[in-house]
Amino acid sequence: MEDRAYLGLDIGGQSVKGFRLEADGRVSLRAAMATPASSGADAVLAVVAAVLAELSGQGDVATVGAGTPGGVDSSGRVAVDAANISGWKGVDLRSAIAKAAGVPSYVRNDGNLAAYGEWAARGFASRALLFVGLGTGIGAGYIADGRMLGGIDDKALEMGHVIVYPEGRRCACGCAGCAEAYASGPSIGRIAVEMARGFQTPLARAALSGSRINAREVYEALAKGDDLAKAVHATAAEALSRLIGQALAFLAPDTVILGGGVLAGATSLVADVAEAVPSYVYPAASAGVRFEKALLGSEAGLLGAALYGASTLLDREELRELAGKAAERLR
Ligand SMILES: [Zn+2]
Repeated sequence: MEDRAYLGLDIGGQSVKGFRLEADGRVSLRAAMATPASSGADAVLAVVAAVLAELSGQGDVATVGAGTPGGVDSSGRVAVDAANISGWKGVDLRSAIAKAAGVPSYVRNDGNLAAYGEWAARGFASRALLFVGLGTGIGAGYIADGRMLGGIDDKALEMGHVIVYPEGRRCACGCAGCAEAYASGPSIGRIAVEMARGFQTPLARAALSGSRINAREVYEALAKGDDLAKAVHATAAEALSRLIGQALAFLAPDTVILGGGVLAGATSLVADVAEAVPSYVYPAASAGVRFEKALLGSEAGLLGAALYGASTLLDREELRELAGKAAERLR
């Protein structure tokens, strides 16, 4: 049994977050710094190194696991650009982290590691688990028969860019009608602003007066019964249901988990999607599928990253015990 800590990192377009998972399952230290996303890869790597230095100062470290947006090849090099970090493609992220921390490091796509974290938090019990995270974009991951589905350069499950409405809303990827253009946090805010003219509600007035509207404002208004918020939520839930309906036909999960920052306010989203999905896929694909809210909120990626590193050193039982203790504290 190890007594050194496992570090988990979540490199995002807005911040680089990390935590230190001790061998007894405690998260003993957290660190976060803003990502200099438009300043180039070297500036982002300097921030990654600073977060690692903060987390390493408190004692020995065994491994570092890290999630990044974009695609990662099997050697841990960023192979596909992340839309939200400029100049990220080509960075040898695994080597940079290993060098900064002085221990082995493991790098995967952030959606895949969030799926791993939610799987771990459920005691690795689900046989086929699909995780869909709604945040600044839509990230996803799929674990089946004990393995994370990565595909070439870990690009599998880029589900946000599945087109659910041909010729629909413009997406940042250049296509039209992607699910992400309807159900990411910023998209939910933009839809509220666009629909506001047809409504005379507090949310519509705020949107028309130029206030900044994101998913959070929409869901705060929804909780008060705002009709514009209801319409926006219905639009997002419908797009998400189309997306997940298609995913069920492809992947046959037993469990679908919705997570990410949007879920913090969207209390009815899981139930609404579970109700609508059967309209978008053949009956046997949705029968018996469990729809659940993420247990770990936005921590799924960090726990997944830390445990993914730990999984290279621990046996199955040790890993399950560590995951159980950590998840208990994080929930
Ligand atoms: Zn797209």
